[in-house]
Formats: sequence, C-alpha cells, structure tokens
Amino acid sequence: MKDETKDIVDNTDNQKDNNIYEDICYICRRPESKAGKMIHIPNNICICSDCMQKTFDTMNNGGMPFMDFGSINPNMMGFTPPPNVKNEIPKNQKIKKRAEKKDTVKAVLDASNLPAPHIIKASLDEFVIGQEFAKKVVSVGVYNHYKRVATGTMEDIEIEKSNMLMLGPTGSGKTYIVKTLARILQVPLAITDATSLTEAGYIGDDVESVLSKLLAAADNDVEKAERGIVFIDEIDKIAKKKSTSSRDVSGESVQQALLKLLEGSDVEVPVGATSKNAMVPLTTINTRNILFICGGAFPDLDKIIKQRLNKQSSIGFSADLKDKYDSDPKLLSQVATEDLREFGMIPEFLGRLPIVFTLDGMSKEMLVKVLKEPRNAITKQYKKLLALDEVDLEFDEGAYEAIAEKAIEKKTGARALRAIIEEFMLDIMYEIPKDEAIGRVIITREYIEGKGAPQIEMRGVPKLPAEL
Ligand code: ADP
Repeated sequence: MKDETKDIVDNTDNQKDNNIYEDICYICRRPESKAGKMIHIPNNICICSDCMQKTFDTMNNGGMPFMDFGSINPNMMGFTPPPNVKNEIPKNQKIKKRAEKKDTVKAVLDASNLPAPHIIKASLDEFVIGQEFAKKVVSVGVYNHYKRVATGTMEDIEIEKSNMLMLGPTGSGKTYIVKTLARILQVPLAITDATSLTEAGYIGDDVESVLSKLLAAADNDVEKAERGIVFIDEIDKIAKKKSTSSRDVSGESVQQALLKLLEGSDVEVPVGATSKNAMVPLTTINTRNILFICGGAFPDLDKIIKQRLNKQSSIGFSADLKDKYDSDPKLLSQVATEDLREFGMIPEFLGRLPIVFTLDGMSKEMLVKVLKEPRNAITKQYKKLLALDEVDLEFDEGAYEAIAEKAIEKKTGARALRAIIEEFMLDIMYEIPKDEAIGRVIITREYIEGKGAPQIEMRGVPKLPAEL
C-alpha cells in the first residue's frame, strides 16, 4: 500500500520551499521578483511572460516552429556568452526570496546581543596565539561594523566601512583569525585567492565570483550573504606590475574591479557558478554591509619602509645611522599608505581599506604555544585519539621545542607544524595499537631529531623505558 503520510510530508516540504524560494525564467534567467509571474511547463521549467511572448513572435515569423523547450539553446535567443565561459548548468535553479521586511537582519545580528570587542577578542584568544594587536584591531573593527549593520546607521549617515588590510608573513594566522571570527559571529565567510581573479572577460574568475562563493556559503540566502565576510588572500599579488608593455589583466585592473565591491554597490552575481553566462541565473547582491578583509605577505615591503625611514632620518640635526632599521623585527608595523602605494597598490583601493595592521612573524616561543595551547591544538588532537585506545600521549618540553625549530627552518610559519607532527606521529599511530600492554608514550627531542626512540611505559609497570 502507498504510504500516504510520506506524501503529505513531501507536499508540505514542497510548499515550504515554494514560499521561500522563487522561480527563475529558463530563458532570460531573471527571478520571479523581477520578471513577473512565471508560466510553468513540463519538466519543471518556468518561463516568464516576456520570453513566452518573444517565443511566439519568433514562431509567427517562421522561426523554430516545433520547439522543444527542454532543448533550447539560449544562444539562439540572442544571448551570447563571452568566449571564455563554460556552459555550466548549476544544480540549484532556485534562489531564496528576499524577505519583505528588513527586520530579519536584526533578528540574527541584534545590536544588543552583539558580543563586545573584549568578548570577541577573548574568543579569538582561545584559538589564535600571540598577534595581540591584530586581534584587538579586528575585534573593534568587526564590532563597529556589525553594530552599524544591525542598527542600520550605514544608511542614515555615511559612515566609512571598516574594511581591513592585514599584512603579515605566511603562516602567521591571517586566514585563521578571519575563519575564527566568522565562526564566533556565525556569519557566512568566503575565502578567495586574489591570484585567481582577472579582469572581466579574461581567463580566470571575475571579481563577482567572490560574491558567488559568499552566496553559496550562505545557502543561497541573499540577505544572509549581504552580512557576510569576504577574505581576499594574497592581495599583494595584484599589485600594479612595474613594466607596462602588456595589459595588466590580473594586477591593477583587478584592483579597479574590486573598488565597487569594497565601497558598497549592487552587483549582479551568478548563482551556483563562478562566471556569468547564459545558463546561470543571476541575482543582485548589495555589498554595503559585507565586510571585506584583505590579507597578504607583501614580500620586500620592508625594504620600501626602510628606504622611507632612512630618508626621513638622514635629514637635519637628528640624522641617524643608515643601518638603524636593518635588524628591526617590527619594521613592518611602521607601514604607511605611501609604502603600499610604492609597492603597487592603487590609492583608490587603499582608500577603501581604512584599517591597516600587521601580524608578527611566528617566533619559536609562539610556535611552541601553537602546539600546546589552542583549544583545538594539534597535539591535543593526537592525545585525544590515543586516549580512546587508553594510551597516554605526552610530549616533553624538548620535543615541543624541536618541532618548533624544524618549523622555523621551513619558513612557512605555523603552517609547517602539522606536516612535521604528522610525519613522526605516523609510526606511533601505527605501532601503539599493536601492543595492548602499552600505557604511556612520551615523545622526546631525540625522537623528533631522529636520534632515538620515544619513551614507552607499560601498563601496571610505571616509568619503565623501552624501545618501540
Ligand atoms: P596565513 O597567515 O598564511 O593566512 P593561516 O592563517 O592559514 O596562515 O595559518 C595556517 C595554520 O597555522 C592555521 O590553520 C592554524 O592552524 C595555524 N596558525 C597560524 N597562526 C596561528 C596562530 N597565531 N595561533 C594558532 N594557530 C595558528
């Protein structure tokens, strides 16, 4: 017998879907809110009345007499995609309707329950080691931004957006801070690499693709996406190229293209794909409330800063020694807009990123803390895994230091730690479950340096070192 209750559940699900999602015209890709009521034809295809009329007109003029809508090539309807785009058919042909009232913004991000800067920073502290200044700047910037969004002050007074520019060596926690932030605030986050962006019409992603990613992260909910965070990594790679012999499609023109997103405007965004073409539905996203954070390592920026500082201090009575700044580890934090301009960032772009701050390079002490302290620290994860086999895993102080020293050699900051640990934990994770009598493993500096074995203690016979 047919299960009728299941049918009823399915039907209510469908109705719920129809209430919050709107149809999109199969031919012109406009949503119902723009194109008006849709005509439904078999195969779940909807067509707006304009396109239907056009189709009839074409037929009356002798074109396409027995047309099968399912096999329409939109190019035939006068839509020609640019030469570099693929004909992607997105899986999701519906986008979420905008709610009638603006009040829903408040429901999620209410100014009264927005965490204060010190609470945001305290949450960041649980995961991110060091970078005190950066965490403070980010907490205040984000708090102010969302306070404006939640109270709607962005519209009354033209308050500058708190878009940010983070400078810091690779593996110092730039992406990690932003990821943690989005999780604390429960807002959608899109992370993009600036190197993949190109000027519209060239091979690569258009800048609008960052908003497509954000929309996907927000489950195709436009309103949610409009309060999200976009992190653009490797921003230093779109610096203006020094030679001007060829067209700079991935440098200065990407900066130009990003301007309109950064300051806040309505942008047509492909839904479910990274490039606009005739097969992809479009929706409009307003970027005014989206927080943009750009990050980059800016190699050689220190030389530019040093040059400027040397020039300043070599004039007048207080002339300094020329090599005064040579070994200053905090040099990057003295960055000024003119240095970034000299590096190749255009003034209009820098003007839209009012908050600029730097992250410190990871020192040995910081790396040791990264291994030990964060809530999800990698050594804690391994300890937990072995605890499930009722084995105690311990690292002695020398082992932590040896791992940190190895990571410093690799020059990729905290990023190197996981690879190093995974390499030597492989044997442990393989051998330990073999012998049920093993109760405790202590990782030592000698083991990390390949000069010895870890200390093993058997169950019931404490402190008896043995070979693995
Ligand atoms: P980048 O600065 O190049 O964006 P990431 O933020 O991607 O570096 O860092 C890579 C990984 O290193 C992160 O996933 C995180 O686990 C770890 N990490 C980096 N910096 C820190 C930090 N300050 N505190 C804790 N973990 C960190």
